[in-house]
Amino acid sequence: MAGNNQKQKVEGQKKGNKKPSKFGLINSISIAILILFLITSFYSIIADQNTNTKNIALSDLVHDIGMGKVTEVTVKGDDLIALYSDKTLKTAKKEVDSSVTETFTRYGLTPEKLNAVKINIEGPSGFSFWLIQVAPFIVPILFLALLVWFMTRQVKGAGMQAFSFGQSKARITMPDDTKEKVTFKDVAGAKEAKQELAEIVDFLKNPKKFLEIGAVIPKGILLMGAPGTGKTMLARAVAGESNVAFFAISGSEFVEMFVGVGASRVRDLFKMAKQVAPAIIFVDEIDAVGRVRGTGVGGGNDEREQTLNQILVEMDGFEPNEKVIVMAATNRPDVLDPALLRPGRFDRRVTIDLPDRNDREEILKIHSTKKPFAEDVVLRVIAERTPGFSGADLYSLMNEGAILAARENRTKIAQYDLVRAIEKVMLGPERKSHLLSKKEKEITAYHEAGHALISSVLPFADPVHKISIISRGRAAGYTLHLPLEDRKMQSKKEFLDDIAVSLGGYVVEKMMFNDVTTGPSNDLQVSTSLARDMVTKYGMSEKIGVLALEGSGGRAMFGKGVDENVFSEKLASDVDAEVARIMDEAYKKAEDIVTTHKSALDAIAKRLIEVENIEREEYESIIIAHGIQPKKKLDIEHSV
Ligand code: ADP
Ligand code: MG
Ligand code: ZN
Repeated sequence: MAGNNQKQKVEGQKKGNKKPSKFGLINSISIAILILFLITSFYSIIADQNTNTKNIALSDLVHDIGMGKVTEVTVKGDDLIALYSDKTLKTAKKEVDSSVTETFTRYGLTPEKLNAVKINIEGPSGFSFWLIQVAPFIVPILFLALLVWFMTRQVKGAGMQAFSFGQSKARITMPDDTKEKVTFKDVAGAKEAKQELAEIVDFLKNPKKFLEIGAVIPKGILLMGAPGTGKTMLARAVAGESNVAFFAISGSEFVEMFVGVGASRVRDLFKMAKQVAPAIIFVDEIDAVGRVRGTGVGGGNDEREQTLNQILVEMDGFEPNEKVIVMAATNRPDVLDPALLRPGRFDRRVTIDLPDRNDREEILKIHSTKKPFAEDVVLRVIAERTPGFSGADLYSLMNEGAILAARENRTKIAQYDLVRAIEKVMLGPERKSHLLSKKEKEITAYHEAGHALISSVLPFADPVHKISIISRGRAAGYTLHLPLEDRKMQSKKEFLDDIAVSLGGYVVEKMMFNDVTTGPSNDLQVSTSLARDMVTKYGMSEKIGVLALEGSGGRAMFGKGVDENVFSEKLASDVDAEVARIMDEAYKKAEDIVTTHKSALDAIAKRLIEVENIEREEYESIIIAHGIQPKKKLDIEHSV
């Protein structure tokens, strides 16, 4: 198995990786000083080895020899060690650069006296001697080197993960790290994406099989999808499934650095990955570095371009058998540089859609482990009520539900908690403290009733699930519409009805109170931009025709920056006229409905003022009483 020796190879790095560098600058200096202290004391111990003998002046020694007290003199370097007849040892220093006999005769010893003493010459030898000679020069150098070493360690400090790879900021997950391991089982739904990625897993597990048959292995895989759909999770799962090292770095981490460093981090990252191959390099949010180059947008960030170029160079430089796969994730594939998408780079593209009803239920199930549920919990209903929720939203829904239950001191999460959590995730927490005045309450009630009524009457609008005049987040009240089914596409008719529904609040305020508040400003923004998109993006205006005047990202349609104003002024004013016409027609449509069904509007608004929240059942009974047929119920609600 390839995995086995793999593990051993990376063991050392893992240790380096796990140990976070905790040394502050002060700490490293004090450690350096401590080491210096140890070295010097060691040095002095060795140097003082023979100082338990008594030191005497050279003249005294000469005198003692003259007196015949000394039997033996050992010369050791510049030291003279004298053995006295009473067996004591005394040392003296000889004159530098002259021999013993010379020294002694100069001090007036007669040759006869000198002959009576045995003189041993011991070469200046031994480890300690050399240490003593060399230490004065070595120690400060050693000290400086240590200091420099600690300081550079310090500079790299925060981002340093693996000792020899100081530059790259990547977080590394090793295959034997079971705690952080994610597998496909942890990712609910996303079947197509998982199928595509299973092939990559297969390759990483058995590269030989593919290489022997001459297959070229994909180098780059781009995961595309809305925020929170589990892109990061899936990338981790590929590594987890195939048991390879996983290097994760985010695009913005490249960007925040100084000129030149981004590119060198890329180089380091790839070098590192090749050393432990097979491996996955994961660049999260790659649009932060991978935006179209040379558009001058955002001041033409040179650093970003260099980083991107380096990524491309590295990917081109892969040998086919290098067994390193680059994965990247983005929720803005439209702004990516076309060079990234060229064959041989990120040529595999995996789209991760928002989860559909079944997937949502699966995701909820995954996140409900370890959460005690009351009997009445039916996750299917929650999944039903959360179209458009991403995996991350569902995760936080579960969490909010648990928090709500805990706040009310219950030990189990009830369905009611989860239902409330939906709204909390969707719209922000309730602002009970934000009390509306009587007048405000009335206006808000009529405003929301307007939205609701119009969406019940128009055939292509979504049915109403709940109306509320309790403020949440920035909204004073809200009307919850849920589509009958998950949909990937929207038609022109739906758009037109949606615009009319958005205008409903505005229309009613004007009609009822002959005045307009600041309340509908967001409604107007949303509906106007929808109308503009219909004209300029989707070709839904007969007058303008099949012209897409804007790329999905607003530019970069053809692999180069598209000027915002490529079209003529005539066309621009035609577009404006079309948008105005759509808005106008929607307004009239809304006004018509509100006038025809005035009694229903009043009934809904009055009830809202009384109870502040109207749920679907009650709402439908009100409109039925006024002769409006509610939209077909979702089958799920029958079954519960
Ligand atoms: P992205 O990278 O696409 O923005 P993440 O992978 O970071 O999304 O997902 C965020 C969180 O949402 C995950 O940690 C996980 O808890 C949850 N999540 C998202 N998609 C799924 C899924 N398909 N199954 C289970 N959990 C999911
Ligand atoms: Mg992510
Ligand atoms: Zn509104």
